[in-house]
Amino acid sequence: MSWAEAKEYFSKNNIAIVPVGSNEEHGPANPLGTDHLIAKGIAEETAKRTGVLCLQVIPFGVSSHHKQFWGTVFVSPKAFKKYVKDVCLSLGYYGIRKIVVVNGHGGNLAPLTELARELREEGIFMSVFQWWTAAPKLLPNLFAAEERRHAAAEETSMNLALHRHLVNMEKVVDEEPRKHAAQAEGVTLPLATADETNSGVFGKASTASIAKGKKVFEAVVAELVRHVNSMKKLKAEDLMSKPKV
Ligand SMILES: [Zn+2]
Repeated sequence: MSWAEAKEYFSKNNIAIVPVGSNEEHGPANPLGTDHLIAKGIAEETAKRTGVLCLQVIPFGVSSHHKQFWGTVFVSPKAFKKYVKDVCLSLGYYGIRKIVVVNGHGGNLAPLTELARELREEGIFMSVFQWWTAAPKLLPNLFAAEERRHAAAEETSMNLALHRHLVNMEKVVDEEPRKHAAQAEGVTLPLATADETNSGVFGKASTASIAKGKKVFEAVVAELVRHVNSMKKLKAEDLMSKPKV
């Protein structure tokens, strides 16, 4: 898009899609870029089907818990939140009032949730979509629980469906994660991936397939298209309650 085309879009629309992800280990078979590449794929397809502007994907996220595995490039929660906020506020300068964030990485959710609250104070309504939260609801029988974890079959299938050339299925492994020595019921620990797995895979990855990945992609894109279309129709002021009269 040139600036002249951007002017055309922003003068007629007040909604945009912002994909975000991370660059972190996903076991020996999957690329480090898994989380931002899947977010980009879902966001761009949704943009195509809804006519809503999609920004470039933000590739680095909050993933220091994967750093014991080589090549994981991460930023702090504070830096991530500030960076995404500045991106959203620059969209706000051109009149964007509704933003759909397509998040590809669970570690980003806490700062994104805080950010959505802060942006609402600025008059911008931001939603966050996560495909792996939607998929088990939309396709409950496609994968077992052990296939739906980090770098397991569901995520590997998405990689196969979207960018097969980046996956090396000869290297695929299944690994049952072990419990941390300090784990107990009701306790939350600051765990690193290396505390629980040797390969970086949680669960069963070897059952991944292109066909299953395509099913997940179609289902989550259809759901996201529904959400974006409803956000498009609703007025920004109707999304955010006013003081009671
Ligand atoms: Zn991932």
